[in-house]
Amino acid sequence: MALSTISGYPRIGGNRELKKALEQFWSGKITAADLQATAASIRATNLSTQRNAGIDIVPVNDFSLYDHMLDTSVLLGNVPARYGWSGGEVDLDTYFAMARGRTGDHDIAAMEMTKWFDTNYHYIVPELGPKSTFNLSSSKPFDALAEAQVAGAEAKVVLVGPITYLLLGKADDDSFDRLNLLDAILPVYEEVVAKLDAQGAQWIQFDEPILVTGVDEATVIALTSAYTRLKEKAASAKIIISTYFDHVADIYPQLVNVPVDGFGFDFVRGGETLNAIQQYGFPAGKTLVAGVVDGRNVWKNDLRTSLSLLQTIESFAPEAKIHVGASTSLLHVPITIARETHLDDDVKNWLAFANEKLTEIATLAKGLTDGEDAIAAELAESDAVQALSRASERRFSPAVRARVSAITPADADRGLTAADRAEIQATKLNLPLLPTTTIGSFPQVPELRAERRRFDNGEISQEEYEAFLEQQIRDVIALQEDLGIDVLVHGEPERNDMVQYFGEQLDGFAFTRYGWVQSYGSRYVRPPLIFGDVSRPQPMTVRWATFAQSLSEKPVKGMLTGPVTILNWSFVRDDQPRSETCLQIALAIRDEVVDLEKAGIAMIQIDEAALREGLPLRRENWQHYLDWAVQSFRITASGVKPETQIHTHMCYSEFGDIFQAISDLDADVISIENARSGLELLESFRNEGYDKGVGPGVYDIHSPRVPPQEEIAENLRQTISVLDVKQVWVNPDCGLKTRKSPETTAALRNMVAATLEVRSEIG
Ligand code: GLN
Ligand code: ZN
Repeated sequence: MALSTISGYPRIGGNRELKKALEQFWSGKITAADLQATAASIRATNLSTQRNAGIDIVPVNDFSLYDHMLDTSVLLGNVPARYGWSGGEVDLDTYFAMARGRTGDHDIAAMEMTKWFDTNYHYIVPELGPKSTFNLSSSKPFDALAEAQVAGAEAKVVLVGPITYLLLGKADDDSFDRLNLLDAILPVYEEVVAKLDAQGAQWIQFDEPILVTGVDEATVIALTSAYTRLKEKAASAKIIISTYFDHVADIYPQLVNVPVDGFGFDFVRGGETLNAIQQYGFPAGKTLVAGVVDGRNVWKNDLRTSLSLLQTIESFAPEAKIHVGASTSLLHVPITIARETHLDDDVKNWLAFANEKLTEIATLAKGLTDGEDAIAAELAESDAVQALSRASERRFSPAVRARVSAITPADADRGLTAADRAEIQATKLNLPLLPTTTIGSFPQVPELRAERRRFDNGEISQEEYEAFLEQQIRDVIALQEDLGIDVLVHGEPERNDMVQYFGEQLDGFAFTRYGWVQSYGSRYVRPPLIFGDVSRPQPMTVRWATFAQSLSEKPVKGMLTGPVTILNWSFVRDDQPRSETCLQIALAIRDEVVDLEKAGIAMIQIDEAALREGLPLRRENWQHYLDWAVQSFRITASGVKPETQIHTHMCYSEFGDIFQAISDLDADVISIENARSGLELLESFRNEGYDKGVGPGVYDIHSPRVPPQEEIAENLRQTISVLDVKQVWVNPDCGLKTRKSPETTAALRNMVAATLEVRSEIG
């Protein structure tokens, strides 16, 4: 008998109730009790949705007011001293101060946040060190279990496991071995297990996704000893170690030897695990949680293929108790397609969000238990959808296919070397040393958002909206002229989002109305859906770029989002390799680059904010990804003449591992985040012989603080002590969209003054 289960469900509420309640709570409009009541009602709805869909074992403790890693830090009492917590149950104020910082009298910065593996979900990074101490400091998992027990559900308490928790944490001192803290942390985990067990927990699942990243022998040993201890605390609760996001074939024999009751695997991204099961078998009588429904993408499951995969798993592990599940928590997908009434029927018929996936899981569990005939109708329907979607003209454009197959190496090559181009560009552009510029967007003031909303709601006409945007552009150009910036931007007022804006104008994309996915805390995004071949029916940005350029004698950068970033921030069709889709996007954006050049734009910036986050989790897969990512960027950038200057921008600084790829992009100028990384990064640019333009961000735009002129000047002096002054550009470290106008103007004024100061020193 195969049971159905999942590891987690979206927390945000069908109407984004959680976001609304959080924001009201933070602004003092509702009480903590109100917030908790909203949270409880979301959980109750989630629970009944899952049970009604036929899920046998429902997850609890997957809900979070902000983030499950933060919850784990709080559970373990790992609260950095600066938050002033003095023991006992961690209160909400402390919790949110850790998550978001606190302003006012006791002003304090938030803890660091970073991406959860290769997803677009961000977690709060635990702070660890030799002096870290741990104490059980939250009742959340126990309360969550009690809630499900009252509702009469068979529940699985989901917790972040100790190995993943420690290895995702950050120590001040890089050489500190975080696994040294295992002995300190385990007593708390043991206490949690013992309490849950006493409370009558049937299942406790520890998520250990770190295991898919290729861990070393010491980690496997630590894992075994940790879970040996935890298992001893569970008299009747069954303990499962769950992995996801990739395979665990490299450690499979040791992993399944760990004395717990079951293991979870991701068969969507981690197919290699199946070979390991075939080779080594699976311990008799234990539970195998088979993640066969994609928890990270939005397409309907091919039920027949999944059923046959499940049967294969069963044949390799005949004495296993199989649970059918999603490959990962459903946190990463929107809640339901039911409300997406505006999507066209074709595309809508290919989609499955969280709720639809629940039904798929329940169906597959039934099929595995009772045989194909028991789900004959569902299989027939799934076959029909698959056949339709595979053959649909909506997906395939012969012209796009022909263009992709005709790509030659010359299409990804600008012809001249960067050095030769630089000379031609210098003559044409005649820029001063240390040219100043910005990354693209200017503050998106409330007035701008309000006007966009009015336009979206049909309250103002296209002409009125465009006139408004033109005025915004005039203002931004005038401001930059007044500040004395050398290379201008139009400010991006027409863009809601750097990916959505392009997706909406490209063929092959669809957009949901309610398809929100949590990015972090109360911040949700609605990723575009790339369902078909991508092409550009007409120019997308030329109108705004030429308007802006007509207002100034100085160069105004054309501003585009690169193909890899568009890909990485979308839900991508899974009927062809991602690289193939990326090449299609590359050709579409290349058309735009060429049109901008034709329209007289001399500099074009192609942002690749998300290139790095697409890196596969396992190092052995990096090169393949980087090869096609770099090729895609180069195709986008190589349709123009040598005198057209191509810029790119990346909002991060961890380039160490991918330096060669960054250089291979062959962009004439790259702006990067550096405000928080010091000289180290610049030294690697120098040591690697990077000979193109570099704009290391001179100040951090993630904070409202206005950097003083002297600070920026000193920063610049240091930069040119490492890099050749001729290659250095001066810019903030990212777009200014989220900042307010006064602080932005003040910061840019200081940036220009600092540049003039340093220029005059050089003479
Ligand atoms: N051009 C974009 C902007 O300035 C880049 C944003 C980003 O890198 N995230 O907003
Ligand atoms: Zn950026």
